[in-house]
Amino acid sequence: MNEELMLQIHSLLVKVGPKDRKFGVKARLNGALNVTVNLVKRNLQNSKLLLPCLQVLRVYAGNLVNAVSLGKSGTLELMFEIIGPYSKKNTTLLKVALDTLAALLKSKMNARRAVDRGYLPTLLAIYQDWHRNDTRHCHLIIRKSILGCIKNLTTIKLGRKAFIDANGMRILYNTSTECLSVRTLDPLVNTSSLIMRKCFPKNRLPLLTIKSIYQHPLSHVPSGGPVAQLYSQPPEMDDVVDESDENEATEVDTENEEDETEDNNENDDIETDINKLRPRQMQTRPFDELRVYERFCVEFTKDFKDYDFENCRAVFHPSSVNQDLNGPIIIPTTTLTSVRSPNRRQQLESVQLPKPTESPTELDGISLAKTPESKPDPDLVCSLGRLVLDGVDSVNGDCDDRSQDESGEQGLLVVPDTAAVLPLHDPDLYLEMVKSTRSVPIYTEVAYPDYFGHVGLDLREPIVERVYGVQRMKIFQDIERLIHPFDILDKVVYDLDNQSCPVIDNGNSLKFTSKFESGNLRKAIQVRKFEYDLILNSDINSNHYHQWFYFEVSNMRPGVRYRFNIINCEKSNSQFNYGMQVLMYSVQEAINGRPHWVRTGSDICYYKNHFSRSSIAAGGQKGKSYFTMTFTVTFQHKDDVCYFAYHYPYTFSTLKMHLQKLRALQTAQIYYREDELCQTLGGNSCPLLTITAMPESSSDDHIDQFRSRPVVFLSARVHPGETNSSWVMKGSLEFLMSSSPKAQSLRESYIFKIVPMLNPDGVINGNHRCSLSGEDLNRQWQNPNAELHPTIYHAKSLLQYLRATGRTPLVFCDYHGHSRKKNVFMYGCSIKETVWQSNANTSSCDLQEDLGYRTLPKLLSQIAPAFSLSSCSFVVERSKEATARVVVWREIGVQRSYTMESTLCGCDQGKYKGLQIGTQELEEMGALFCVGLLRLKRFTSPLEVHNHKSHVLDIENDLIDTRSIPNISSSTTYVLDEDEPAFLEEVDYSAESNDENDPVLEPELQDNLALPGPNSDSGV
Ligand SMILES: [Zn+2]
Repeated sequence: MNEELMLQIHSLLVKVGPKDRKFGVKARLNGALNVTVNLVKRNLQNSKLLLPCLQVLRVYAGNLVNAVSLGKSGTLELMFEIIGPYSKKNTTLLKVALDTLAALLKSKMNARRAVDRGYLPTLLAIYQDWHRNDTRHCHLIIRKSILGCIKNLTTIKLGRKAFIDANGMRILYNTSTECLSVRTLDPLVNTSSLIMRKCFPKNRLPLLTIKSIYQHPLSHVPSGGPVAQLYSQPPEMDDVVDESDENEATEVDTENEEDETEDNNENDDIETDINKLRPRQMQTRPFDELRVYERFCVEFTKDFKDYDFENCRAVFHPSSVNQDLNGPIIIPTTTLTSVRSPNRRQQLESVQLPKPTESPTELDGISLAKTPESKPDPDLVCSLGRLVLDGVDSVNGDCDDRSQDESGEQGLLVVPDTAAVLPLHDPDLYLEMVKSTRSVPIYTEVAYPDYFGHVGLDLREPIVERVYGVQRMKIFQDIERLIHPFDILDKVVYDLDNQSCPVIDNGNSLKFTSKFESGNLRKAIQVRKFEYDLILNSDINSNHYHQWFYFEVSNMRPGVRYRFNIINCEKSNSQFNYGMQVLMYSVQEAINGRPHWVRTGSDICYYKNHFSRSSIAAGGQKGKSYFTMTFTVTFQHKDDVCYFAYHYPYTFSTLKMHLQKLRALQTAQIYYREDELCQTLGGNSCPLLTITAMPESSSDDHIDQFRSRPVVFLSARVHPGETNSSWVMKGSLEFLMSSSPKAQSLRESYIFKIVPMLNPDGVINGNHRCSLSGEDLNRQWQNPNAELHPTIYHAKSLLQYLRATGRTPLVFCDYHGHSRKKNVFMYGCSIKETVWQSNANTSSCDLQEDLGYRTLPKLLSQIAPAFSLSSCSFVVERSKEATARVVVWREIGVQRSYTMESTLCGCDQGKYKGLQIGTQELEEMGALFCVGLLRLKRFTSPLEVHNHKSHVLDIENDLIDTRSIPNISSSTTYVLDEDEPAFLEEVDYSAESNDENDPVLEPELQDNLALPGPNSDSGV
């Protein structure tokens, strides 16, 4: 055939090819590949003919099987004959050759072949040459294409090694830094950064084991699950990395990529078994077993004859009503009622406080400093060092840091008078509470913020706009560690694993501690003068769940930018990428009249890092990395003590203090009782509250009204890291105990049973997710074990008792926090909505279902500014079948059974749109939840419903109008270890560094990746 004809045929094929998806396959089956290859071989100097042939080759190579075949017939080598150093000639041809090469290199076999032939250094040299000569940036596309080839080569391990050996890191780092100032070169910088991240040698997390530093012996180990796995692990086993992770064996070309099926498993977590969706009718436990729970419901049988209603005098104190009954519930299935901590807490009598370095000042009109004259406490020793509980040997050692006590007199810690502005706070009472809190590490220190208290800010704290290129900048700084290794200090400055870790006191390093209630920081490493890598501790009896942090920093220099990197985060994305900031509490600020946790930090971002995660820690998946959460802070004061936390801390001791203060608010109208639901594994008492209104008198009518009030059951903080749920609960409790007419009316309407903290041990010990058994308690509701999950076991039993006595709660709500979504919202349970969502057997849709489960969320969306109805979902997921919400709905038969999720970040709708959430908003939400319950009464009480019939219909019509809502949230996919479904706002930041699957992006798209607009996470 003559070449002119071939030229025409190929010109035609170039036009037709891209229009036919099967073009490449057809060409291969017809033996056309080699025709073109041979044509190219013969016409390397004939650019006129070469161009259309290469263009066709590029189309062929887009098919992976073709790419393998083309590689075997020498096409790679051919391409390298065309690609050469900088030249202004034939750039079109060069571009097509590069694209063809990039397509060929997607085949791992070809990539290996190219590495073996030494093409990687060649490509790097070509790239450098273009970088040097293309000074006016006319050939961006070519430079980008060269990088594309390098990127595909480094998909294989061999390629990454060749890249490192060829000094690729330094070459791309240097070229990129030279490009940084020119915005149009961003695509080059981004691709370079992506390649460097891929090639960055995987590091071992600097730990001996990822198992929690603290252990809690279990009376028995569960037979299966993660805890059993952990216990069966041989002690000498290296769980930080496993060698097999970097296994080349997986790097083979898949031959059947052509008919990739759209695997749409989006909805595969939705429960489709209609029988599982129907409430379970049978009584599962004999009533005799439940009878013991009567002690928590004495108000149902109380006749109040001994109460002096005339004088409103509490002849009897409800709060002490069943003192005689207080004692452990004996569970028939076990001999042990609780497992006490093996280490007896030492006697903690008084408090020693180190010396303050500044005298108190009175600012802003609030005198927060107690003057020394007014309150000299001989037990207080001061320094803004440590707040230490006495009775521990090391106390004196802890105070000598700066030997500021040369004056000979004991200074006084100035306690901000937060009690004046915080009705439920009292530092002295807090310390009292701390003494009876049992922790696994046996904490001896108290964190100042918990002691002083936190006053909610009136200031608005906007959701932070992400700075352009911040992630890139941080990644470059990480890469510099490799480029300039001698700049790296690598100095361990805090290490829980090594208690003898020297305290470096040369003034050049920050000091850290986390040895206080709810504290979490395992290790701190100074990497550069003002930069620290931080490692979080795993939940007790577990080897992961790193998210919650709470630690103290001191010895800082003011006015300097410190960078902190938490390097062992696990989730693939975080609200830290969408405007959320960390929380900081400054003791100097507190003493100066501003005792606030404030949102702080700049240059915040969250990205995949170069620390490898062992398959043990990654749930069996190999080759996973950890994520870094980085933030930068400038401290204002010298000699300050600052605290950082993931979210507003709320300790178990804080809860106990708040409960005591709430008890004091009790009036003659309020019935308030506090029982011990049970003891926890760690030997703490889990409180159960009963709140309602006292009957008006002991007349039969009034007692009848009292006893016929429906029960509302509330709980919170099953997940320790979700401290926001405790603040919401605080808001609810304060409202319930308040003297407002609404509160009284609410108390007259319902009997509240409240477990304000379902997981005290987890909270105390700084866990993020689990209890001391190493398990997620909100996955134990189906079959709670009395020994391992006592709080869940007894809460569920109490609910079963209520049901058995005909007092099935009207509403059940478990308060949670959500780390990925904005606003406050609810998850409920609906058979119909689940069936709709699953798109399965629509015929079963004619089952009848009361829409009542939608009323409360609807009401809340009308009254609570943070609440968003469109984020609510009423779908029952398989993965959630053992959660409180689903079990209480199915087994106890509570139609209005909810999880209420509060954002950790902020709101994107309503009055608080664009603002980060604070404790005031969270507490307000808790109070408004109560108001919602009061309004709900109109729709649930038979009498009231009769009177408001038309209004009820209105609301129901509204509800029907909002039926499209579940479709909005239809991306309810099951996300491992995610509390609730992941949502639309998720933008995968990790994609940039995703080894397995780099989507080839247009430059524009990649720009977008680098800079997500502020609205990219708005949840549509
Ligand atoms: Zn949760």
